[in-house]
Amino acid sequence: MDTNTHPKFTKEINGVFIDPQIFTFKFSCMCGGECCNYGVYTDLKEHEMIISIKDKIIPLLDETQIKDVDEWFEEPEEDEDFESGVAVGTEVPNGKCTFLDKNGLCTLQKLAISEGEHKWKYKPIYCVLFPLTVFEGALTIDDEHIDRLKTCSKEPIKVTTIYDACKEELIHFFGEEKFIELENYKNEYLSEYSGVEKK
Ligand code: SF4
Ligand code: SF4
Repeated sequence: MDTNTHPKFTKEINGVFIDPQIFTFKFSCMCGGECCNYGVYTDLKEHEMIISIKDKIIPLLDETQIKDVDEWFEEPEEDEDFESGVAVGTEVPNGKCTFLDKNGLCTLQKLAISEGEHKWKYKPIYCVLFPLTVFEGALTIDDEHIDRLKTCSKEPIKVTTIYDACKEELIHFFGEEKFIELENYKNEYLSEYSGVEKK
């Protein structure tokens, strides 16, 4: 994709266009992690990183998870929304991502925490971002995945926006400096298009 133009969006940060819907879409995250039941697409480099630390992952897996590394991932496929141009999906044995344990916890996150590292050090970026995603070069709402989940954002009362709910994740994705640029764009957008006062 040409990183200087987008058919729908004008604002670009770090080579990613911003869908301003993320500033207004109401969301509630109240469930126990159903989003992990479908697995995730990792970038080829993330997939290789995970395989390279397999010896640290395997001892943390429980009886509902597969220890055979060859069964952790699907076949790679081309996808321009991934940095390397190749996506590799995680398998879903026993109806959940291969890295989700019987208590609903991500083994990759458990490993990072047990090492005293940042909790998302080994976690695929699309896991961190959900319910946001990057689609066709734009940061947007993963409404397709939200719609197919039974509990995700189905709470009748939605008191926050997806943007506010995902601030920590957005800072992780963009970095502190670029996040300020995103915050400024949000304020501009809301005051210009929604009449909402700047926070
Ligand atoms: S890698 Fe971890 S966070 Fe991502 S879908 Fe699997 S269990 Fe969930
Ligand atoms: S993002 Fe959705 S599916 Fe995941 S934990 Fe929150 S409400 Fe549940």
